[in-house]
Amino acid sequence: MFYILMIVIFVASMIIQGRLRRLASKYSNIPVASGITSNQAVLQMLDSYDVTGVVVKHTGGDLTDNYNSREGTINLSDTTYNRNSITAVAIAAHEAGHAVQDSQGMGAYRVRQFLAPAVNICSRLGVYVVLLGVVISYVVEKDFGGIGYHVSTVGIVMYSVAVIFYAVTLWIERDASRRGWKAMQELQWVSDDQLRAAKKLLWAAGDTYAIALASSAATLLRLLAMRGGRRR
Ligand SMILES: [Zn+2]
Repeated sequence: MFYILMIVIFVASMIIQGRLRRLASKYSNIPVASGITSNQAVLQMLDSYDVTGVVVKHTGGDLTDNYNSREGTINLSDTTYNRNSITAVAIAAHEAGHAVQDSQGMGAYRVRQFLAPAVNICSRLGVYVVLLGVVISYVVEKDFGGIGYHVSTVGIVMYSVAVIFYAVTLWIERDASRRGWKAMQELQWVSDDQLRAAKKLLWAAGDTYAIALASSAATLLRLLAMRGGRRR
């Protein structure tokens, strides 16, 4: 059952990533109606939200765009930096959306920042702690109500931090896309057709975070099943 679920998630993730790459490459050849570049778009959007102290920089790679809160930079990749395609402007507006979230002190954004340093260690170690608990239950105690059960529970709580992180991340990513898309509309950078194209692209990008959440939730279910037993 679990393996079928993982295969479904894996196939869905391939489809979603393929769709994102296809849309990004298709719209990277179409200039926006206003001719504005991604860099100008970021500055206009930040200005309209009164966000100061954020600069645009170039970063290598493809679809590696990000907002760095600590350094106050919006890093745009090779296909995005200083370009006027629908893809470049939409992605730049999305990253500017993150800068707006940060400057407005959005709750979910703060939660994500708080959880981020703990996520890797919690997700990796959590799995091992659950396994350790299962070994104690099976091998040492030969019982599912003892210390092993509680050790597994600690592992499950640890892993849950990662699931919460992915859920909050999905929320933040959708919100940044909504903000970016709204700016594209209100600041009149694109035609109506292009606005629809940008929406498709931004939502396809957000779907990759939905897959990350689904995958971590499936693993959590698996860990719960492994723990088994009931507290007496
Ligand atoms: Zn984002």
